[in-house]
Amino acid sequence: MVVHFIKKFLSVLLNFVLPHRCLMCGEFTQHDDTACTFVSLSKPSVCGACWHQLSFITKPYCLTCGAPLAFDGDACQSCFNKAFAFDSVRAVLVYNEVSKKMITRFKHAGQAGYARLFAPWMYNVALSVLRDRQDQDNWDAIVVVPLHPLRFIRRGFNQAMLLAQHMGLSLPILKKALKRIRHTVSQGHQSPDDRQKNIQHAFIAQASCVNGKRLLLIDDVMTTGATLNECTIVLKNAGAIRVDILVLARAIRV
Ligand SMILES: [Zn+2]
Ligand SMILES: [Zn+2]
Repeated sequence: MVVHFIKKFLSVLLNFVLPHRCLMCGEFTQHDDTACTFVSLSKPSVCGACWHQLSFITKPYCLTCGAPLAFDGDACQSCFNKAFAFDSVRAVLVYNEVSKKMITRFKHAGQAGYARLFAPWMYNVALSVLRDRQDQDNWDAIVVVPLHPLRFIRRGFNQAMLLAQHMGLSLPILKKALKRIRHTVSQGHQSPDDRQKNIQHAFIAQASCVNGKRLLLIDDVMTTGATLNECTIVLKNAGAIRVDILVLARAIRV
């Protein structure tokens, strides 16, 4: 009773002294009075209104490409006639207007604090994958989709690496496993075929890092899957035995 009262009091005090603002709209949000610690002070958050505009992907979803399914099943229509090199995809969010805005800010406005908001969502999805597999076929290591060195210098960080680092999975992150050797033009408005051609031979993998390993490959957004597929091909050619994809958001064709 006394502890509850103290927590409540501290929560009110914190909301007064250090008010939280929603990362999306800037509205004030409340500190969580059940987790009222100094850690929670720096924890980024979104308000209820913005939260409801995010579309979290829950079951049923396609086990191959991670797309949400309108029916109970294992595969979506487009995966019936498509062969991806990766073994599975899980995405936290649908890439809609709201998630796009958040991820664009995260990537282009240097607001790396967003990683601390997104990474726990990705961590929970990674745990649910392992739970579904009953801890069979666990991963040996994490690899992230690399930026070309020129883009890395311009941005100052790799968003996929920030997400992987903040997830806190107890797995090594193989920073040298995958390299982008070709600077590709932005794929934003390209057709799926053009994306595939554009990304070919853009990566190399270090066999000494990945040979014989089951990998979790992380990126921020999956659009057609061309980039992630190409990374997987290169990683498997270098000896990786399994590549599962985890992304923050996934574009859905309607
Ligand atoms: Zn908001
Ligand atoms: Zn699918």
